[in-house]
Amino acid sequence: MKRVLYISVIAFIFTQAFHFIAASEVTDEDGRGWKAGIARVLITPEQSMWMDGYAARDHPSEGVLHDLWAKALVIEDSRGYKAVLVTSDIIGFPKHMSDRIRNRIGAKFGLTRSQIILNSSHTHSGPVIYDAFSNIYPLDQEQIKKAKEYSAKLEDQIVELVGKAIGLRLPAKIYSQNGVVRFQVNRRNNTEKTIEQINDLKGPNDYAVPVIKVVNEKGELMAVAFGYACHATVLSIYQFSGDYPGFAQIEFEKSHPGVTAMFFQGAGADQNPLPRRTIPLAQQYGRELAAAVERVLDEDMRELDPHLSTAYSEIDLQYAGAPPTKEELIQIMKESSSYPAYLKINAKSLIEILDRGESLGTTYPYPCQVWKIGDQPLMILGGEVLIDYTIELKKIFGPDIFVLGYSNDVMSYIPSESVLREGGYEGTRSAIFTTPWNVNIQSAILEEMTRQAEKIGVKMDKLSN
Ligand SMILES: [Zn+2]
Repeated sequence: MKRVLYISVIAFIFTQAFHFIAASEVTDEDGRGWKAGIARVLITPEQSMWMDGYAARDHPSEGVLHDLWAKALVIEDSRGYKAVLVTSDIIGFPKHMSDRIRNRIGAKFGLTRSQIILNSSHTHSGPVIYDAFSNIYPLDQEQIKKAKEYSAKLEDQIVELVGKAIGLRLPAKIYSQNGVVRFQVNRRNNTEKTIEQINDLKGPNDYAVPVIKVVNEKGELMAVAFGYACHATVLSIYQFSGDYPGFAQIEFEKSHPGVTAMFFQGAGADQNPLPRRTIPLAQQYGRELAAAVERVLDEDMRELDPHLSTAYSEIDLQYAGAPPTKEELIQIMKESSSYPAYLKINAKSLIEILDRGESLGTTYPYPCQVWKIGDQPLMILGGEVLIDYTIELKKIFGPDIFVLGYSNDVMSYIPSESVLREGGYEGTRSAIFTTPWNVNIQSAILEEMTRQAEKIGVKMDKLSN
Protein backbone atom coordinates (compact mmCIF):
# COMPACT_ATOMS: atom_id res chain seq x y z
CA MET A 1 0.00 0.00 0.00
CA LYS A 2 2.73 2.42 1.09
CA ARG A 3 4.81 1.48 -1.92
CA VAL A 4 1.90 2.34 -4.25
CA LEU A 5 1.49 5.69 -2.51
CA TYR A 6 5.25 6.37 -2.84
CA ILE A 7 5.15 5.62 -6.58
CA SER A 8 2.06 7.82 -6.97
CA VAL A 9 3.80 10.74 -5.24
CA ILE A 10 6.86 10.37 -7.50
CA ALA A 11 4.56 10.14 -10.53
CA PHE A 12 2.68 13.23 -9.36
CA ILE A 13 5.89 15.25 -8.90
CA PHE A 14 7.10 14.07 -12.31
CA THR A 15 3.87 15.07 -14.10
CA GLN A 16 3.83 18.45 -12.35
CA ALA A 17 7.45 19.04 -13.39
CA PHE A 18 6.56 17.99 -16.91
CA HIS A 19 3.60 20.38 -16.92
CA PHE A 20 5.91 23.14 -15.78
CA ILE A 21 8.38 22.43 -18.59
CA ALA A 22 5.54 22.21 -21.11
CA ALA A 23 4.11 25.50 -19.87
CA SER A 24 7.47 27.27 -20.09
CA GLU A 25 7.68 26.27 -23.74
CA VAL A 26 4.59 28.23 -24.70
CA THR A 27 6.00 31.65 -24.01
CA ASP A 28 8.38 33.50 -26.29
CA GLU A 29 12.09 34.03 -25.54
CA ASP A 30 11.21 37.18 -23.61
CA GLY A 31 8.63 35.24 -21.61
CA ARG A 32 5.58 36.74 -23.28
CA GLY A 33 2.58 34.52 -23.88
CA TRP A 34 -1.04 34.95 -24.97
CA LYS A 35 -3.44 37.62 -23.86
CA ALA A 36 -7.19 37.07 -24.06
CA GLY A 37 -10.23 39.30 -23.54
CA ILE A 38 -13.82 38.10 -23.34
CA ALA A 39 -17.08 40.08 -23.43
CA ARG A 40 -20.78 39.50 -24.03
CA VAL A 41 -23.84 41.55 -24.89
CA LEU A 42 -27.54 40.74 -24.59
CA ILE A 43 -29.24 40.82 -28.01
CA THR A 44 -32.74 39.51 -27.17
CA PRO A 45 -35.26 41.73 -29.01
CA GLU A 46 -37.10 44.05 -26.63
CA GLN A 47 -40.38 43.62 -28.52
CA SER A 48 -42.23 41.06 -30.61
CA MET A 49 -40.79 40.73 -34.15
CA TRP A 50 -40.84 38.37 -37.13
CA MET A 51 -38.56 35.36 -36.60
CA ASP A 52 -35.85 34.16 -38.94
CA GLY A 53 -35.26 30.69 -40.40
CA TYR A 54 -38.56 29.21 -41.54
CA ALA A 55 -40.34 30.69 -44.53
CA ALA A 56 -43.58 29.07 -43.32
CA ARG A 57 -43.94 31.21 -40.16
CA ASP A 58 -47.13 33.26 -40.37
CA HIS A 59 -46.99 35.63 -37.39
CA PRO A 60 -44.43 37.47 -35.22
CA SER A 61 -42.72 36.14 -32.05
CA GLU A 62 -44.60 35.47 -28.80
CA GLY A 63 -42.18 35.85 -25.92
CA VAL A 64 -38.74 34.56 -24.98
CA LEU A 65 -37.70 30.99 -24.10
CA HIS A 66 -34.19 32.09 -23.15
CA ASP A 67 -32.03 35.14 -23.90
CA LEU A 68 -29.94 35.62 -27.05
CA TRP A 69 -26.29 36.69 -26.80
CA ALA A 70 -23.40 37.92 -28.90
CA LYS A 71 -20.00 37.11 -27.40
CA ALA A 72 -16.44 38.06 -28.33
CA LEU A 73 -13.10 36.41 -27.66
CA VAL A 74 -10.07 38.57 -28.50
CA ILE A 75 -6.70 36.82 -28.53
CA GLU A 76 -3.30 38.51 -28.79
CA ASP A 77 -0.09 36.64 -29.44
CA SER A 78 3.41 37.34 -28.07
CA ARG A 79 4.09 39.89 -30.85
CA GLY A 80 0.93 41.83 -30.05
CA TYR A 81 -0.94 40.50 -33.12
CA LYS A 82 -4.67 40.32 -32.38
CA ALA A 83 -7.76 38.59 -33.74
CA VAL A 84 -11.38 38.39 -32.63
CA LEU A 85 -13.96 35.61 -32.77
CA VAL A 86 -17.54 36.87 -32.47
CA THR A 87 -20.29 34.28 -31.90
CA SER A 88 -23.99 35.10 -31.93
CA ASP A 89 -27.45 33.61 -31.42
CA ILE A 90 -28.77 34.83 -34.80
CA ILE A 91 -29.48 33.30 -38.23
CA GLY A 92 -26.42 34.91 -39.84
CA PHE A 93 -24.63 38.14 -40.71
CA PRO A 94 -25.56 39.15 -44.28
CA LYS A 95 -22.83 40.67 -46.48
CA HIS A 96 -23.79 44.36 -46.24
CA MET A 97 -24.11 44.23 -42.47
CA SER A 98 -20.95 42.16 -42.02
CA ASP A 99 -18.98 44.53 -44.29
CA ARG A 100 -20.11 47.55 -42.27
CA ILE A 101 -19.31 45.88 -38.93
CA ARG A 102 -15.86 44.73 -40.10
CA ASN A 103 -15.09 48.16 -41.61
CA ARG A 104 -16.00 49.84 -38.33
CA ILE A 105 -13.92 47.36 -36.28
CA GLY A 106 -11.07 48.04 -38.72
CA ALA A 107 -11.33 51.82 -38.41
CA LYS A 108 -11.71 51.80 -34.61
CA PHE A 109 -9.40 49.01 -33.52
CA GLY A 110 -7.07 48.47 -36.50
CA LEU A 111 -8.15 44.89 -37.25
CA THR A 112 -8.27 43.75 -40.90
CA ARG A 113 -10.86 41.32 -42.31
CA SER A 114 -8.49 38.38 -41.82
CA GLN A 115 -8.42 39.14 -38.08
CA ILE A 116 -12.21 39.13 -37.59
CA ILE A 117 -14.60 36.15 -37.57
CA LEU A 118 -18.32 36.99 -37.38
CA ASN A 119 -19.97 33.60 -36.79
CA SER A 120 -23.66 32.94 -36.16
CA SER A 121 -25.23 29.85 -34.59
CA HIS A 122 -27.92 29.95 -37.31
CA THR A 123 -30.65 29.58 -34.68
CA HIS A 124 -34.04 29.41 -36.38
CA SER A 125 -35.59 30.97 -33.27
CA GLY A 126 -33.95 34.40 -33.55
CA PRO A 127 -35.28 37.69 -34.94
CA VAL A 128 -35.29 38.53 -38.66
CA ILE A 129 -32.02 40.25 -39.54
CA TYR A 130 -32.53 42.80 -42.30
CA ASP A 131 -31.12 41.47 -45.58
CA ALA A 132 -30.38 37.99 -44.17
CA PHE A 133 -32.95 35.97 -46.12
CA SER A 134 -35.42 38.69 -45.13
CA ASN A 135 -36.55 38.77 -48.75
CA ILE A 136 -38.22 35.36 -48.41
CA TYR A 137 -40.62 36.20 -45.54
CA PRO A 138 -44.04 37.84 -45.83
CA LEU A 139 -43.00 41.02 -43.97
CA ASP A 140 -45.25 44.08 -43.89
CA GLN A 141 -43.86 47.63 -43.57
CA GLU A 142 -43.99 47.50 -39.76
CA GLN A 143 -41.98 44.25 -39.64
CA ILE A 144 -39.44 45.58 -42.18
CA LYS A 145 -38.98 48.67 -39.99
CA LYS A 146 -38.50 46.49 -36.88
CA ALA A 147 -35.95 44.27 -38.68
CA LYS A 148 -34.02 47.34 -39.88
CA GLU A 149 -33.99 48.92 -36.40
CA TYR A 150 -32.96 45.68 -34.66
CA SER A 151 -30.18 45.04 -37.21
CA ALA A 152 -28.81 48.63 -36.98
CA LYS A 153 -28.67 48.35 -33.17
CA LEU A 154 -27.01 44.93 -33.43
CA GLU A 155 -24.28 46.43 -35.64
CA ASP A 156 -23.48 49.03 -32.96
CA GLN A 157 -23.58 46.36 -30.25
CA ILE A 158 -21.10 44.08 -32.06
CA VAL A 159 -18.60 46.93 -32.62
CA GLU A 160 -18.85 47.94 -28.94
CA LEU A 161 -18.56 44.30 -27.85
CA VAL A 162 -15.27 43.88 -29.71
CA GLY A 163 -13.92 47.10 -28.15
CA LYS A 164 -14.90 45.86 -24.71
CA ALA A 165 -13.17 42.47 -25.21
CA ILE A 166 -10.00 44.23 -26.45
CA GLY A 167 -10.04 46.39 -23.32
CA LEU A 168 -10.36 43.34 -21.04
CA ARG A 169 -7.25 41.49 -22.30
CA LEU A 170 -5.34 39.58 -19.61
CA PRO A 171 -2.39 37.16 -19.74
CA ALA A 172 -3.75 33.75 -20.73
CA LYS A 173 -3.04 30.26 -21.97
CA ILE A 174 -4.92 28.71 -24.86
CA TYR A 175 -5.59 25.04 -25.52
CA SER A 176 -7.42 23.13 -28.27
CA GLN A 177 -8.76 19.65 -28.97
CA ASN A 178 -11.61 17.94 -30.82
CA GLY A 179 -14.35 16.10 -28.96
CA VAL A 180 -17.30 14.15 -30.33
CA VAL A 181 -21.11 14.02 -30.08
CA ARG A 182 -23.51 12.27 -32.44
CA PHE A 183 -26.94 13.92 -32.55
CA GLN A 184 -26.50 15.34 -36.07
CA VAL A 185 -28.30 13.36 -38.79
CA ASN A 186 -27.75 13.78 -42.52
CA ARG A 187 -31.14 15.18 -43.48
CA ARG A 188 -30.74 14.53 -47.22
CA ASN A 189 -30.18 10.80 -46.82
CA ASN A 190 -32.49 9.85 -43.90
CA THR A 191 -36.24 10.34 -43.51
CA GLU A 192 -37.26 12.49 -40.54
CA LYS A 193 -40.68 10.86 -40.19
CA THR A 194 -39.24 7.40 -39.49
CA ILE A 195 -36.04 8.56 -37.80
CA GLU A 196 -36.72 6.78 -34.51
CA GLN A 197 -37.08 3.42 -36.30
CA ILE A 198 -33.91 3.72 -38.41
CA ASN A 199 -30.99 1.68 -37.09
CA ASP A 200 -28.60 2.33 -39.94
CA LEU A 201 -28.44 6.10 -40.42
CA LYS A 202 -26.78 7.16 -43.64
CA GLY A 203 -24.02 9.77 -43.83
CA PRO A 204 -21.99 11.67 -44.68
CA ASN A 205 -21.44 13.23 -41.25
CA ASP A 206 -18.70 14.83 -39.17
CA TYR A 207 -19.30 14.44 -35.44
CA ALA A 208 -16.38 16.58 -34.23
CA VAL A 209 -16.80 19.07 -31.38
CA PRO A 210 -13.89 21.51 -31.77
CA VAL A 211 -13.00 23.11 -28.41
CA ILE A 212 -10.82 26.13 -27.60
CA LYS A 213 -10.07 26.57 -23.89
CA VAL A 214 -8.80 29.86 -22.46
CA VAL A 215 -7.40 29.98 -18.90
CA ASN A 216 -5.84 32.82 -16.92
CA GLU A 217 -2.33 32.88 -15.46
CA LYS A 218 -3.48 30.87 -12.43
CA GLY A 219 -4.91 28.19 -14.72
CA GLU A 220 -8.52 29.16 -13.97
CA LEU A 221 -11.01 28.75 -16.81
CA MET A 222 -11.98 32.09 -18.42
CA ALA A 223 -13.79 30.99 -21.58
CA VAL A 224 -14.49 28.04 -23.78
CA ALA A 225 -15.39 28.34 -27.47
CA PHE A 226 -16.82 25.21 -29.03
CA GLY A 227 -18.56 24.23 -32.25
CA TYR A 228 -20.74 21.63 -33.90
CA ALA A 229 -21.85 21.18 -37.50
CA CYS A 230 -25.63 20.90 -37.33
CA HIS A 231 -28.59 23.13 -38.20
CA ALA A 232 -30.03 24.89 -35.12
CA THR A 233 -33.54 23.73 -36.03
CA VAL A 234 -34.82 21.67 -33.12
CA LEU A 235 -37.45 24.32 -32.38
CA SER A 236 -40.01 25.96 -34.64
CA ILE A 237 -42.11 27.63 -31.92
CA TYR A 238 -42.69 31.39 -31.70
CA GLN A 239 -40.48 32.08 -28.66
CA PHE A 240 -36.97 33.50 -29.09
CA SER A 241 -34.15 31.12 -28.21
CA GLY A 242 -30.68 30.04 -29.28
CA ASP A 243 -32.08 26.52 -29.98
CA TYR A 244 -29.70 23.65 -28.98
CA PRO A 245 -26.56 25.91 -29.17
CA GLY A 246 -28.28 28.33 -26.75
CA PHE A 247 -29.02 25.48 -24.34
CA ALA A 248 -25.44 24.15 -24.68
CA GLN A 249 -23.99 27.54 -23.66
CA ILE A 250 -26.47 27.88 -20.77
CA GLU A 251 -25.75 24.34 -19.53
CA PHE A 252 -21.98 24.86 -19.61
CA GLU A 253 -22.14 28.25 -17.91
CA LYS A 254 -24.45 26.84 -15.21
CA SER A 255 -21.76 24.37 -14.11
CA HIS A 256 -18.91 26.95 -14.49
CA PRO A 257 -20.14 30.22 -12.90
CA GLY A 258 -18.32 33.27 -14.27
CA VAL A 259 -17.00 31.43 -17.33
CA THR A 260 -18.13 32.46 -20.82
CA ALA A 261 -19.23 29.66 -23.15
CA MET A 262 -19.28 30.53 -26.86
CA PHE A 263 -20.81 28.43 -29.64
CA PHE A 264 -19.62 28.63 -33.26
CA GLN A 265 -21.59 26.90 -36.02
CA GLY A 266 -19.68 24.45 -38.20
CA ALA A 267 -20.15 23.43 -41.83
CA GLY A 268 -23.12 21.09 -41.43
CA ALA A 269 -25.90 22.70 -43.46
CA ASP A 270 -27.21 19.27 -44.53
CA GLN A 271 -27.27 18.02 -40.91
CA ASN A 272 -30.36 18.29 -38.70
CA PRO A 273 -30.74 17.51 -35.00
CA LEU A 274 -33.14 14.55 -35.22
CA PRO A 275 -35.61 13.80 -33.79
CA ARG A 276 -36.65 17.38 -33.10
CA ARG A 277 -39.45 19.92 -32.47
CA THR A 278 -39.71 19.88 -28.64
CA ILE A 279 -38.06 22.07 -25.98
CA PRO A 280 -36.85 19.01 -23.97
CA LEU A 281 -35.10 17.71 -27.13
CA ALA A 282 -33.36 21.09 -27.67
CA GLN A 283 -32.28 20.95 -24.03
CA GLN A 284 -31.12 17.34 -24.37
CA TYR A 285 -28.89 18.17 -27.38
CA GLY A 286 -27.59 21.24 -25.53
CA ARG A 287 -26.67 19.05 -22.55
CA GLU A 288 -25.05 16.43 -24.80
CA LEU A 289 -22.92 19.08 -26.49
CA ALA A 290 -21.96 20.68 -23.15
CA ALA A 291 -21.05 17.20 -21.84
CA ALA A 292 -18.84 16.60 -24.90
CA VAL A 293 -17.03 19.88 -24.12
CA GLU A 294 -16.63 18.89 -20.43
CA ARG A 295 -15.05 15.58 -21.47
CA VAL A 296 -12.51 17.39 -23.67
CA LEU A 297 -11.63 19.73 -20.77
CA ASP A 298 -11.21 16.74 -18.40
CA GLU A 299 -8.65 15.12 -20.68
CA ASP A 300 -5.31 16.46 -21.94
CA MET A 301 -5.65 19.30 -24.40
CA ARG A 302 -2.92 20.65 -26.69
CA GLU A 303 -1.44 23.87 -25.32
CA LEU A 304 -0.94 26.35 -28.17
CA ASP A 305 2.20 28.44 -28.77
CA PRO A 306 1.55 32.21 -28.58
CA HIS A 307 1.80 32.67 -32.35
CA LEU A 308 -1.21 33.76 -34.37
CA SER A 309 -1.53 34.02 -38.17
CA THR A 310 -4.62 34.95 -40.17
CA ALA A 311 -5.51 35.03 -43.87
CA TYR A 312 -8.61 36.14 -45.77
CA SER A 313 -9.76 36.51 -49.34
CA GLU A 314 -12.93 36.76 -51.37
CA ILE A 315 -13.34 34.77 -54.58
CA ASP A 316 -15.93 35.29 -57.31
CA LEU A 317 -18.16 32.22 -57.17
CA GLN A 318 -19.99 31.71 -60.44
CA TYR A 319 -23.69 31.04 -60.90
CA ALA A 320 -24.71 28.16 -63.19
CA GLY A 321 -26.05 30.50 -65.84
CA ALA A 322 -27.17 34.02 -66.50
CA PRO A 323 -29.30 35.53 -63.70
CA PRO A 324 -33.05 35.64 -64.39
CA THR A 325 -34.49 38.45 -66.50
CA LYS A 326 -37.32 40.63 -65.26
CA GLU A 327 -39.73 38.72 -67.52
CA GLU A 328 -38.67 35.38 -66.01
CA LEU A 329 -39.09 36.75 -62.48
CA ILE A 330 -42.57 38.06 -63.30
CA GLN A 331 -43.40 34.58 -64.61
CA ILE A 332 -42.25 33.01 -61.30
CA MET A 333 -44.49 35.42 -59.38
CA LYS A 334 -47.47 34.57 -61.60
CA GLU A 335 -47.17 30.76 -61.57
CA SER A 336 -49.47 29.88 -58.74
CA SER A 337 -48.50 26.28 -57.99
CA SER A 338 -45.04 25.40 -59.35
CA TYR A 339 -43.05 27.70 -57.04
CA PRO A 340 -43.21 27.90 -53.22
CA ALA A 341 -44.38 31.19 -51.71
CA TYR A 342 -40.89 32.21 -50.53
CA LEU A 343 -39.48 32.00 -54.08
CA LYS A 344 -42.22 34.36 -55.25
CA ILE A 345 -41.39 36.81 -52.47
CA ASN A 346 -37.73 36.49 -53.43
CA ALA A 347 -38.57 37.06 -57.12
CA LYS A 348 -40.38 40.26 -56.16
CA SER A 349 -37.30 41.54 -54.29
CA LEU A 350 -35.06 40.69 -57.27
CA ILE A 351 -37.40 42.68 -59.55
CA GLU A 352 -37.02 45.63 -57.17
CA ILE A 353 -33.22 45.41 -57.57
CA LEU A 354 -33.56 45.41 -61.38
CA ASP A 355 -36.06 48.30 -61.21
CA ARG A 356 -33.45 50.34 -59.32
CA GLY A 357 -31.22 49.92 -62.37
CA GLU A 358 -28.87 47.51 -60.56
CA SER A 359 -27.73 44.18 -62.00
CA LEU A 360 -28.06 40.78 -60.31
CA GLY A 361 -24.51 39.95 -61.39
CA THR A 362 -23.09 36.65 -62.62
CA THR A 363 -20.78 35.96 -59.65
CA TYR A 364 -20.82 36.37 -55.86
CA PRO A 365 -17.87 37.53 -53.68
CA TYR A 366 -17.40 34.54 -51.35
CA PRO A 367 -15.32 34.86 -48.14
CA CYS A 368 -12.53 32.31 -47.43
CA GLN A 369 -10.56 32.66 -44.18
CA VAL A 370 -7.88 30.66 -42.35
CA TRP A 371 -6.48 31.12 -38.84
CA LYS A 372 -3.55 29.40 -37.19
CA ILE A 373 -3.56 29.66 -33.39
CA GLY A 374 -0.25 28.10 -32.36
CA ASP A 375 -0.39 24.93 -34.47
CA GLN A 376 -4.23 24.76 -34.45
CA PRO A 377 -5.67 25.52 -37.90
CA LEU A 378 -9.18 26.99 -38.25
CA MET A 379 -10.86 26.87 -41.68
CA ILE A 380 -13.57 29.53 -41.82
CA LEU A 381 -16.18 29.66 -44.57
CA GLY A 382 -19.14 31.85 -45.47
CA GLY A 383 -22.64 30.58 -46.20
CA GLU A 384 -24.55 27.45 -45.29
CA VAL A 385 -21.74 25.03 -46.01
CA LEU A 386 -22.50 21.32 -46.47
CA ILE A 387 -20.65 18.64 -44.49
CA ASP A 388 -18.71 17.43 -47.57
CA TYR A 389 -16.50 20.53 -47.22
CA THR A 390 -15.52 19.58 -43.66
CA ILE A 391 -14.74 16.05 -44.82
CA GLU A 392 -12.70 17.24 -47.82
CA LEU A 393 -10.78 19.86 -45.80
CA LYS A 394 -9.93 17.19 -43.20
CA LYS A 395 -8.63 14.94 -46.01
CA ILE A 396 -6.30 17.78 -47.04
CA PHE A 397 -5.28 19.17 -43.65
CA GLY A 398 -5.87 16.28 -41.25
CA PRO A 399 -8.56 15.42 -38.68
CA ASP A 400 -7.44 17.97 -36.06
CA ILE A 401 -8.49 21.10 -37.97
CA PHE A 402 -11.53 23.11 -36.87
CA VAL A 403 -14.05 24.03 -39.59
CA LEU A 404 -16.49 26.94 -39.22
CA GLY A 405 -19.34 27.75 -41.60
CA TYR A 406 -21.90 30.59 -41.34
CA SER A 407 -19.07 33.09 -40.94
CA ASN A 408 -18.68 36.67 -42.23
CA ASP A 409 -21.57 36.34 -44.74
CA VAL A 410 -24.53 33.98 -44.92
CA MET A 411 -25.85 34.30 -48.47
CA SER A 412 -27.18 30.81 -49.33
CA TYR A 413 -26.38 27.10 -49.24
CA ILE A 414 -22.88 26.11 -50.37
CA PRO A 415 -23.41 22.62 -51.81
CA SER A 416 -20.64 20.20 -52.70
CA GLU A 417 -20.25 19.25 -56.34
CA SER A 418 -22.06 15.92 -55.79
CA VAL A 419 -25.04 17.58 -54.05
CA LEU A 420 -25.17 20.22 -56.78
CA ARG A 421 -25.43 17.42 -59.35
CA GLU A 422 -28.05 15.55 -57.25
CA GLY A 423 -30.15 18.72 -56.82
CA GLY A 424 -32.76 18.84 -54.07
CA TYR A 425 -33.26 21.51 -51.41
CA GLU A 426 -29.62 22.41 -50.72
CA GLY A 427 -28.40 21.89 -54.30
CA THR A 428 -30.60 24.06 -56.48
CA ARG A 429 -30.15 27.66 -55.36
CA SER A 430 -27.33 30.15 -55.04
CA ALA A 431 -27.19 33.67 -53.61
CA ILE A 432 -29.76 34.31 -56.34
CA PHE A 433 -32.45 31.86 -55.25
CA THR A 434 -33.73 31.14 -58.74
CA THR A 435 -30.32 30.05 -60.12
CA PRO A 436 -27.95 27.28 -58.88
CA TRP A 437 -24.21 27.71 -58.29
CA ASN A 438 -21.81 26.67 -61.02
CA VAL A 439 -20.67 23.06 -60.72
CA ASN A 440 -17.04 24.19 -60.09
CA ILE A 441 -18.05 25.64 -56.69
CA GLN A 442 -16.35 22.94 -54.57
CA SER A 443 -13.00 22.97 -56.38
CA ALA A 444 -12.97 26.80 -56.42
CA ILE A 445 -13.50 27.02 -52.64
CA LEU A 446 -11.12 24.18 -51.69
CA GLU A 447 -8.36 25.59 -53.94
CA GLU A 448 -8.73 29.03 -52.38
CA MET A 449 -8.75 27.64 -48.83
CA THR A 450 -5.58 25.70 -49.65
CA ARG A 451 -3.98 28.87 -51.05
CA GLN A 452 -4.85 30.90 -47.94
CA ALA A 453 -3.69 28.07 -45.64
CA GLU A 454 -0.33 27.83 -47.44
CA LYS A 455 0.13 31.59 -47.05
CA ILE A 456 0.18 31.25 -43.25
CA GLY A 457 2.03 27.95 -43.09
CA VAL A 458 -0.81 25.53 -42.33
CA LYS A 459 0.63 22.14 -43.22
CA MET A 460 -1.15 19.60 -45.37
CA ASP A 461 -1.75 16.24 -43.69
CA LYS A 462 0.90 13.61 -44.42
CA LEU A 463 -1.75 11.17 -45.62
CA SER A 464 -2.94 13.45 -48.40
CA ASN A 465 0.51 13.90 -49.94
ZN1 LIG B 1 -30.11 27.01 -42.83
